Amino acid sequence: MSEKIKVGVLGATGMVGQRYIKLLEDHPWFEVSYVAASPRSAGKLYKDAVANRWLIGAEIPSGVQNLTVQDANDAKLAIGKCKFVFSALEMGKDEIKALEAAYAAEGIPVVSNASANRWTEDVPMLIPEINFSHLDVIAEQKKHHGWDKGFIAVKPNCSLQTYMMPLHALIQAGYPVKRMIVTTLQATSGAGYPGVASFDMIDNIVPYIGGEEEKTEKECLKILGTVKDGKIENAGLPLVSSTCTRVPVVDGHTACVSLEFDLPEDKKPSLEEIEKIWTSYKSVPQELDLPSAPAKPIVVRHEDNRPQPRRDRETEKGMACVVGRLRKCPVFDVKFVALSHNTKRGAAMGGILNAELLKAKGFFDNL
Ligand code: NAP
Repeated sequence: MSEKIKVGVLGATGMVGQRYIKLLEDHPWFEVSYVAASPRSAGKLYKDAVANRWLIGAEIPSGVQNLTVQDANDAKLAIGKCKFVFSALEMGKDEIKALEAAYAAEGIPVVSNASANRWTEDVPMLIPEINFSHLDVIAEQKKHHGWDKGFIAVKPNCSLQTYMMPLHALIQAGYPVKRMIVTTLQATSGAGYPGVASFDMIDNIVPYIGGEEEKTEKECLKILGTVKDGKIENAGLPLVSSTCTRVPVVDGHTACVSLEFDLPEDKKPSLEEIEKIWTSYKSVPQELDLPSAPAKPIVVRHEDNRPQPRRDRETEKGMACVVGRLRKCPVFDVKFVALSHNTKRGAAMGGILNAELLKAKGFFDNL
């Protein structure tokens, strides 16, 4: 068997970083050889840096426990220690942008969860099932910066991933969507650790998440966009109106979605057709049999009271979009409830799937 690729995790001590560490423990292609975080954690053994805040309900992987945490602000420290990095840093946008570019400039590709580079024209914002073709902009990105081996690829916001695959499945099947109303009920883990104060979360709902509605309304247009002249040209539709709320759930973002098709009445799909499209949805990650790809990216539930975060978030190891309550909408055309695991599909495991796609497409050859 060929050797595993050595990888680094920036922000390894945080909520998403810890997920990366755990999910990569037995990964068939990647092995964590480098961990980095803030100067507060730098110099400590990983097990000591996370001693009182290891949030994953299992042991810290033995191969990582005794790695010394490095300062993520110095990209040069990673040279020769790992081939590429996952970025799960929580810092100012400009700082993250500069840092991710510094790693890429040192020849270390960055697979990022941060929002800083999501709007950079030549940076793909990937959900591998939907927009694998956006990998084509990486060549232009490298040329533009004069980067030889390094590049940046990012993930979209976690809340979108609850409903982007069902939306894409319909559009791809020939049912374009004109307008959508989305109300999200987002888990507390989405705010990192320690996140929202328990006093605000217990027995409560917070009807505001800073910056989240803007991301929900705009990022889908880039994800559904097409590559033109080395850049991603955003889609024009759908027009999205969203309300994002924080609810007392640990993991699993839920979204209530109503949508209107951009089609005459007699061309709109029936509920049965929609369900058929969703249950048969498969894409490149499934065709390539990527290790973290769910066999069924969209799982449809028929019970009146599903999906539920506690019961459904681990579907397909936390990588499925679970959809239920598909019904007619008296205002738009149809409505449904969708759920996905925010720190798995929406963050670390989604990032790992991006890296698997990049590897399968040869982007990590000759590093
Ligand atoms: P978090 O729990 O607050 O962790 C932040 C990480 O960044 C820690 O490792 C921290 O290191 C490090 N860090 C903070 N300040 C730093 C600095 N000045 N220099 C270097 N490292 C620094 O945040 P999170 O929830 O894991 O989120 C990480 C990223 O993923 C964010 O960009 C977030 O927007 C994105 N994201 C999160 C989710 C989610 O569900 N939580 C989903 C999708 C995307 P120390 O421990 O040393 O302070």
